[in-house]
Amino acid sequence: MKASLRGVPAAPGVAHARIWRLPERAGTEGSRGPEIGLDQAAEQAAAELESLQQRLRAGGREDESEIFGAQALMAQDPELLDVARQAIDQGASAEEAVRNAGEQAASILAALDDEILAARAADVRDVAARIARILRGEQPPRLEERSIAVAFDLPPSITAELDPALLAGVALEAGSRTAHAAILSRALGIPAVVGARGLLEAAQGGREIVVDGTTGELFIDPDAETLAEVERRSAAANAQAGADAELRGRPLQTADGHRLMLGANIGQPDDAKRAIDGGAEGVGLFRTEFMFMGRATAPDEATQTAAYTRVLEAFGARPVVIRLIDLGGDKDLPYLPLPREENPFLGVRALRLADAGHEALVLTQLRAILGAGERTGRQPWIMAPMVADLSDVYRLHELVALAAFGRTVAVQPKVGIMVEIPSLALIAELVAPEVAFFSIGTNDLTQYLLAADRTNPGLADRQDPLHPAVLRAIRGVVEGGHAAGIPVAVCGEMAGDPAGAMALAGLGIDELSMDAGAFGAVKRALAGASLIELQEAARHALHAESAKDARAVFESMREREREAVG
Ligand code: PEP
Ligand code: MG
Repeated sequence: MKASLRGVPAAPGVAHARIWRLPERAGTEGSRGPEIGLDQAAEQAAAELESLQQRLRAGGREDESEIFGAQALMAQDPELLDVARQAIDQGASAEEAVRNAGEQAASILAALDDEILAARAADVRDVAARIARILRGEQPPRLEERSIAVAFDLPPSITAELDPALLAGVALEAGSRTAHAAILSRALGIPAVVGARGLLEAAQGGREIVVDGTTGELFIDPDAETLAEVERRSAAANAQAGADAELRGRPLQTADGHRLMLGANIGQPDDAKRAIDGGAEGVGLFRTEFMFMGRATAPDEATQTAAYTRVLEAFGARPVVIRLIDLGGDKDLPYLPLPREENPFLGVRALRLADAGHEALVLTQLRAILGAGERTGRQPWIMAPMVADLSDVYRLHELVALAAFGRTVAVQPKVGIMVEIPSLALIAELVAPEVAFFSIGTNDLTQYLLAADRTNPGLADRQDPLHPAVLRAIRGVVEGGHAAGIPVAVCGEMAGDPAGAMALAGLGIDELSMDAGAFGAVKRALAGASLIELQEAARHALHAESAKDARAVFESMREREREAVG
């Protein structure tokens, strides 16, 4: 049995289903349907929006369903369509006419300087863009049956819009383990392989595919022998899940009982249950930007307060770290277009957006977090991403104070930061006294330290966080944090990788936060060695010649442990 292709294993598990191709961009072959006029396109847009509304309502997502109901009405708004018709009469193309009409209506609403109407402006633009898309003959990204998404890349905003009940797996030509399509797949428990070069060409004309997200193998139009092997692998994966469940009640600790806190990474309030069922001792990273995706407008303060309240209530006395919206890089929102940048990962992203015209977005989120703290009586932990130096820290405190202005905050939040920009890692001891906790984002820290774009599969070999330079940076952050008496966590993907987790324990990290699917493997890895052994191994790794050599130090320990057990 030979794999058709091999990529980067990004989310574990095996899936076999029909291939679903993400519709190509306008004008490309296969995307064009029969020519239709403005009225018909508007009708089709309304029908699409109504069915989206019904699907969300059936899934219990009442708030979002209403947004699409309102949009369905807008799609047939006589005034919008009249303005577009007039432009067509004057020679504009239907697509251009509807876009301009939408833009015109949106600017009028936005100029009214009212938050609710400004949100409507984004809705009108979104509706006009949908009608324009239909006029171009493109299909909406929607699954009709259980399928595996095969695409060059799958932006998180599109993944969030796909029906998770029908999305059986993901296979991408682009991306790496730490790209957000991969992170989202893990959170959804969907097997994924990314960075599979040549995938689109190989899958051309293919009907079905097998994705093995554990090995990184892809099988296009599998034969009977392959399908039998797939069955066997699924059974083994289920058995492993059973063994992991048995570890549920056990703490995360080394063989000699040195404990680390086990945190969960979540992207939606709905993920809380899976994390708690898996034995999470708290949330180490709530990637709130995922909550802003797959919708037509940003969730307002009340909607966000309700979401954070759900998570705080679910975790009770256990800490919940809510990260401020981290947009930019490989994450954007259709209703919040960011200016095009040559290097978006080095651009105006995350906390930097607060100083680039989006302060209100951050303040609304902070007010919602404080509101959830008030409602539940629980202390929220607020975390800012992409902090580069002390001025960013002071700005963060200022934003928190602005959000708290005029309200009685009974429980003060803990305010901490992600350490993911190398500059911050180098001055950790200067910054630590100003914050309540550090959480190291090894995904970004690795890409920035090693100058290796995390979404570029061609650089997969250069993105290993076990690189001695990254390990040394982590050691510095631990020393700086501990000197000031604050806890130091890791919430990048390294924490959920058994060898990475062993290195981090040896370097003195206090908490590991990861997708709940990795809990079992990481608990087993730490339970196989004593703290002194891990510290000794970490010392070797810090002086290793390469990431490969450093990784080998921990892999050989795991190998010895496996032999001793079995
Ligand atoms: C990181 O950079 O390691 C991290 C946890 O944040 P994100 O992956 O969302 O950028
Ligand atoms: Mg990051």
